[in-house]
Amino acid sequence: MGGSPMTTATPLPAPPRAAADPGIRFSIFLLELTSHCNMCCDFCPDGIMKRPRGLMDAGLAKKVMRELAGKRMCERVFFHVMGEPLLHPRFDELARHAHECGLKLSLYTNSSLLTEKHIERLLSVPIDNLTLSIQSIDQDSFVLRRAGRLSYGNYVGGVERFLRMKVERRHPGKVTMHYMVGNVKPGSPGGLLIVSKEQAEGVIRKWQAFFRDLDPEGAARAAAPPVSLADVERGYPVYPGVVLFLKAAHHWAGAMVQVGYEFRPSEAGYCAAISGGAAAGTFAVLWNGAVTYCCNDYEGTLALGNANEQTIEEIYAGPKAAAIRENAARGRLIHPTCQRCMGQLVRIDTGKKVPKYRNPLTLLHLSSNYYKKHGLRQTVLKSLDYLRKSF
Ligand code: SF4
Ligand code: SF4
Repeated sequence: MGGSPMTTATPLPAPPRAAADPGIRFSIFLLELTSHCNMCCDFCPDGIMKRPRGLMDAGLAKKVMRELAGKRMCERVFFHVMGEPLLHPRFDELARHAHECGLKLSLYTNSSLLTEKHIERLLSVPIDNLTLSIQSIDQDSFVLRRAGRLSYGNYVGGVERFLRMKVERRHPGKVTMHYMVGNVKPGSPGGLLIVSKEQAEGVIRKWQAFFRDLDPEGAARAAAPPVSLADVERGYPVYPGVVLFLKAAHHWAGAMVQVGYEFRPSEAGYCAAISGGAAAGTFAVLWNGAVTYCCNDYEGTLALGNANEQTIEEIYAGPKAAAIRENAARGRLIHPTCQRCMGQLVRIDTGKKVPKYRNPLTLLHLSSNYYKKHGLRQTVLKSLDYLRKSF
């Protein structure tokens, strides 16, 4: 098993758990069906990713899903870390396997392949929650997605085709439409994403009108609250079962920042992915079986083990995963990727610290979400960490 060296600044703690922990419950489990992508978005590290690309062996995906379901380690799986899952030739079979195992499936697609053929696939397999990662609001912002010859018109046409077929067939699956907001998180690669309240309202109105044309009665049952860009990471219902979600652009463990800013690593910090209270946080298997804690580690540098050779339980209890986790529970980050991820954003010219979120409403909203997910202790620790890095 390879991987990045851990720093020696903090002592390695407790030995690995000798026996499998029957209580492992992941809140998010990611299976990267493929690291290939037919886009190369400016806000994604796809263009700088160095690890080899490939497709996950279907046998490996099934083995992991059987273990997750058999030991009730999670309720749902996500079929991505990097890459576009619909490019996997056995996507349908793997989606059905998740269902047969009793796992819910969350699927993120970049929405570039919404031809009738792919829509039929998507509507015929059991997907509990489908996220259409749209991000771009117009031709100008679509340039950021570097989608080759695909035009913005054809792209949006595919999204509309999918939604029309879903409504006409009364398909019950939940759909989330992701739009990234580029101006709320300093240092995030905002570019031409949504940057104003008017743009956000415009895109919500556009989809409300689209659904009103298709099904006025249904559309009337979904009422989006007033938009506030101070309050991102929030969903706006545009049709029953369809939510438009405003998402803050993120920095992929400090790798994607605006010119003029940099992340200074920090050995202190809290990360819900690895120290998330009662739940075991997140875990991710990359296409070649390499395991990491989260999708921010897009290069797989945490290298906790390999699911081709070990069970998920063994990897979770193994020395590397345990050391990272148990230090993180005490607010210490021992892996360089985590230290950069939870580091301090600064302006390079002045060295001035940049607070993660400036708006108190955003902070309030995120803290209450954090509290619901991770409990009081983690929220207090996270808040103290935030304050320490802001002043
Ligand atoms: S954001 Fe998604 S669609 Fe864009 S390059 Fe990354 S993996 Fe591909
Ligand atoms: S701190 Fe580490 S485990 Fe947590 S999100 Fe960042 S890279 Fe992932």
